[in-house]
Amino acid sequence: MKLRFKTVLALFFTLIGLISVLLVSLVVNFFLDTAFQEYSKRKQEIRNQEIINLISSQYTSDGNWNKAVIQDIGVSVLEEGMLLKLTEMDGTVIWDAVAYNSGICTAMIEKMTDRMTKHYPAIEGGFTLKGYPINIGDTQIGILTIGYYGPFYYSETELFFVETLNQLLIWVALGTFVISIFCGVFISRLISKPLSSVTLSAKRLALGDYSIRSPVSSKTVEVQDLIHSVNNLAETLSAQDTLRKQLTADVAHELRTPLCTLQGYIEALSDGVWEPTKERFVSCHEEITRLTKLVEDLTSLARFESEHLVLNTSHFNLNELIRQVLHLCESKINEKHLTIIFDSQPQIIWADKDKIKQVIVNIFSNAIKFTPDYGSVTLSVSREKNMIIVVVADTGQGIPAEDLPFIFERFYRVDKSRTRSTGGTGIGLSIVKQIVNAHHGTVSVESTLGSGSRFSVRLPSSG
Ligand code: ADP
Repeated sequence: MKLRFKTVLALFFTLIGLISVLLVSLVVNFFLDTAFQEYSKRKQEIRNQEIINLISSQYTSDGNWNKAVIQDIGVSVLEEGMLLKLTEMDGTVIWDAVAYNSGICTAMIEKMTDRMTKHYPAIEGGFTLKGYPINIGDTQIGILTIGYYGPFYYSETELFFVETLNQLLIWVALGTFVISIFCGVFISRLISKPLSSVTLSAKRLALGDYSIRSPVSSKTVEVQDLIHSVNNLAETLSAQDTLRKQLTADVAHELRTPLCTLQGYIEALSDGVWEPTKERFVSCHEEITRLTKLVEDLTSLARFESEHLVLNTSHFNLNELIRQVLHLCESKINEKHLTIIFDSQPQIIWADKDKIKQVIVNIFSNAIKFTPDYGSVTLSVSREKNMIIVVVADTGQGIPAEDLPFIFERFYRVDKSRTRSTGGTGIGLSIVKQIVNAHHGTVSVESTLGSGSRFSVRLPSSG
């Protein structure tokens, strides 16, 4: 049988409440009863001693007993439920409660036995007689026999007190039981409500509804964490879904132009509308090269997007890496007669070497590409607190201010027709941004149309 979490929690709390209430009641009842019985026994003993002292003091100096007072004492303790019998050493009875009024004594003994057996049937009590010596100095002059109900006896008031206390305990137990049920239901609702909401969100996510969010919040840290995690998961899935749809649309758009052009060329050639000249084949080849470049760029973009969280970090000298990139691009630099200015101190960084190399290659190759012949590109690496800043500044054509906010977006090119000749696909800078973001860094650009652009990459030196 599968129970709802709410039911399990409520049952659990109720059970715990019930067990603790029962335990407390039993323990309190047991100890209270034992302590009260002990108190009653001691009280009886103290009272007995008081009576002995009182009776002893009734022995006069001329060797007689003050019988009138002894009778008063005897009658008054009779009302307390005690029977006195004072005997001299030779057996002479000075006063005896039974002899004084046997009717009252019998009725009293019956009444006391009745009451105690009714309330404490398990305790084998009864009327006990206990003899105490009456001494004057070192000489014993008589025996006082005190009859009382033992091992303990509760008067009406004491019995009332014990019973009230027991009733009180029952009420406390009942109250605690009811409160524990309420607490159980309340706490289970407190936890199960957000859990149900999160479960619903997870089910909707599994069905592809990425817009779902759990609106509930919880005071429990773990449950709140769970709500956050599922909401974050929904956020990420939603972002990835948008990205995927966007990418599909972008790729389709990017492929359409060269494919349409190629289709047009080939149709014209096969229909005989066009003569198959060398220039036309070169045009076709250019479109195919463009397509190949696009596919290559898409492949590397897919790699960086899927791997962007996995960084293979190590310590390396950033200057050394830049020198390697300069070496790689040497032929292009020479081809355009560019002046490269790069002079800086070694800078050690904790990052993914291959990915950072890709960042430098992409920015630097753009600088070469968009700088006219005999221009210059300046590279610098500096440190600011715990950040390393790489700057690539060129004296190229620059980027219009209205395009600046978009140049890190996928497939964004400032001048689509111009990039036909430069062969750009608009993916390079979006890869740069992915890598820099994964390193918790930032990339920015400043540019003045006609005089050049300046790209700055800021990376934490220790990852
Ligand atoms: P591409 O492969 O087209 O170079 P990028 O993402 O690297 O793609 O660059 C996007 C666009 O940003 C480029 O098409 C170009 O218009 C512009 N751009 C990038 N770097 C520079 C630069 N140094 N000077 C001028 N324009 C640049």
